[in-house]
Amino acid sequence: MKILANDGIAPIGKQQLEAAGFTVVTETVPQNDLIQTINKENYVALLVRSATTVRKDIIDACPGLKLIGRGGVGMDNIDVAYAKEKGLHVINTPASSSQSVAELVMAHLFGAVRFVYDANRQMPSTGVTEFKTLKKKYAKGIELRGKTLGIIGFGRIGQATASYALGCGMNVIYTDPFAEKATINIKVGNQHVAVELTSSTKDEVLTKADFISLHVPKLDQPAIGNDEFAIMKDGVIIVNAARGGVVDEAALITNLNSGKVAHAALDVFENEPTPREDVLKHPKISLTPHIGAATLEAQDRIGEELASQIKALLL
Ligand code: NAD
Repeated sequence: MKILANDGIAPIGKQQLEAAGFTVVTETVPQNDLIQTINKENYVALLVRSATTVRKDIIDACPGLKLIGRGGVGMDNIDVAYAKEKGLHVINTPASSSQSVAELVMAHLFGAVRFVYDANRQMPSTGVTEFKTLKKKYAKGIELRGKTLGIIGFGRIGQATASYALGCGMNVIYTDPFAEKATINIKVGNQHVAVELTSSTKDEVLTKADFISLHVPKLDQPAIGNDEFAIMKDGVIIVNAARGGVVDEAALITNLNSGKVAHAALDVFENEPTPREDVLKHPKISLTPHIGAATLEAQDRIGEELASQIKALLL
């Protein structure tokens, strides 16, 4: 049985599938050629990350396809309900990348409060001639310890982020209509500390937090737009490593320009893979190109999780 891993798969996942007798091809077939290639090569499974989309047209035109696998969490690039209706297995790897996304959020937060993102932009061009000016420009850093992180969406990644933030001495509040209470387990050396948290209302989080990080699924409406910005603390810092569109980018630019929002950190964008240029070039936005899950550890876990599910479903 042949598997096309169109957006790649970690070597360990490929090895485990091949050891079980599958042929795994990792070359990327262009989106428009997928139907033809899947049928010609008799692929039974199509594995994707976020780049390849699997819509109704592919599902209808490839009767030999038995399984669609998403290496990662969000399945908005796959017509999941339709595929299941047609009898296909649709799998993902929800838990594999939570730690990695949480660490990226913390990287953005640490970078934001000390202007690391901007210093890295300015130092190569003016570091020699304007060293003292730059030193003065970045002299108003703040510490994360003691500040309040508000988390919107308290599932796997929201909770993993909470554990890092609590471990750094931050206060954590959250809102999630489906997680009224949560226990965050933090490992410190050989000791485990359990921190009990209770959901606040969204308005409470918006009004009380110094930093707001979003960890909701893609929603029909932005979770953060002008109305939400209006009730936040002046100088709030926003992180979106969930999905593009969860924060309204036009409203974000307006509120950064007015000074209401001090800084934003974005790993995801409304118009991926061609984000707005004014977002990319904004002096108060630190950026990463959707790399939340892009660690070796997460990719290995994703590969292994996919392999074990595929073996269970197709052998
Ligand atoms: P999850 O399903 O474990 O958690 C999502 C939580 O959001 C749930 O607890 C749900 O109850 C809550 N929620 C839903 N609607 C809400 C709302 N309106 N207000 C508040 N809470 C709401 O998902 P997860 O694994 O934690 O993933 C969270 C997000 O991170 C997803 O959008 C996912 O696509 C994204 N993600 C991004 C990357 C990246 O590379 N940046 C990697 C993995 C996942």
